[in-house]
Amino acid sequence: MSVRPIYLDCHATTPMDQRVLEAMMPYFTEYFGNSSSITHLYGWEAEAAVKKAREILATAIHCSPEEIIFTSGATEANNLAIKGIAEAYFTKGRHIITVQTEHRAVLDPCQYLQSLGFEITYLPVQADGLLDLEQLEKTIRPDTILVSVMAANNEIGVIQPLEKIGAICRQHEVLFHTDAAQAIGKIPLDVEQMNLDLVSLTAHKVYGPKGIGALYVRRRNKRVRLAAQIQGGGQEKGLRSGTLVTPSIVGFAKAIEIGLAQMLDETKHLRLLQETLWNKLSQLEGIYLNGHREKRIQGNLNVSVAGVNGSALLLGLQSVVAVSSGSACSSTSNTPSHVLTALGHPEALAYASLRFGIGRFNTLSEIEQVASSAIATIQSLRGATL
Ligand SMILES: *Cc1c(COP(=O)(O)O)cnc(C)c1O
Repeated sequence: MSVRPIYLDCHATTPMDQRVLEAMMPYFTEYFGNSSSITHLYGWEAEAAVKKAREILATAIHCSPEEIIFTSGATEANNLAIKGIAEAYFTKGRHIITVQTEHRAVLDPCQYLQSLGFEITYLPVQADGLLDLEQLEKTIRPDTILVSVMAANNEIGVIQPLEKIGAICRQHEVLFHTDAAQAIGKIPLDVEQMNLDLVSLTAHKVYGPKGIGALYVRRRNKRVRLAAQIQGGGQEKGLRSGTLVTPSIVGFAKAIEIGLAQMLDETKHLRLLQETLWNKLSQLEGIYLNGHREKRIQGNLNVSVAGVNGSALLLGLQSVVAVSSGSACSSTSNTPSHVLTALGHPEALAYASLRFGIGRFNTLSEIEQVASSAIATIQSLRGATL
């Protein structure tokens, strides 16, 4: 069997941590009950596991357990938040503010609402990927019902100033939603300090299982109303019907618990790897880093390279390293990344771009190997075009 390439695509998904798998296993077979079965032990066992997981997640973002609504992931959480708010508050107003660099799971529900008559403002970002707060404040109108700004960007890793955005939203009495898919378990999140009303979470970007996530919905100190998008058995306070996936929920909580416990050490580890990669790559001419230098999640390195063809570069690297260009969701289409385009570099369309997503299990020697291969491949492609 040939050796598989080094995995550096952790913004698309992460390998599951062995400890997460171990925590999940008993809930597939032995403790298989339905957490809604209130008449017998099997149901109570599942219900107890879900309760404990809910408490762990609540502690992680400083909310209370009743404010956590389990979903199938961040895509569903974003849909529930954005469409659920639109449906519950349209008599108050029909204006929503979001940002051009959001994930498609925010942009597409917004676009759908636009087709129903809502008005959406897609704010631009500055050259470093950060939102201009003055511009945000000026954009808020009396009929604005929601501001949705992601915590950490999935392409360029930039962390938005959530606390400042939250303060602006609170002052203008507008609800604030954040897509924290890339942030949970990696940077601290505090719904009180940041004035967050809705937060989308997912497990599989932080070494948990795929297909499980959650939406935080504020219930205290101005309770948020939300219209359910999936009706049925009335689980999750009627906001998200469907039998709860106990093993995944247990794994989700375990992943977050590990993420929080290791946050400081892991940030240091990722920072070292990220800096090593950039120090080596930046020895090349015609290469630049996308997004703010410091205000970023440490596993991310997004670079643009002049003088090479993007697909040729990926092809040249694919036996050595699994990376993506732009974001995984748009790398199948040939359109340039909407995030890099929004940064406004005039070269964005002509340059090749690579997104490295470094994770918990990557080592320094892997990073060194990837750096030398990338440098050699870029040099040889440039040589070939001379
Ligand atoms: C991965 C990702 C999503 C989608 O999450 P799923 O759990 O896969 O649905 C949404 N937003 C961001 C920022 C992401 O990185």
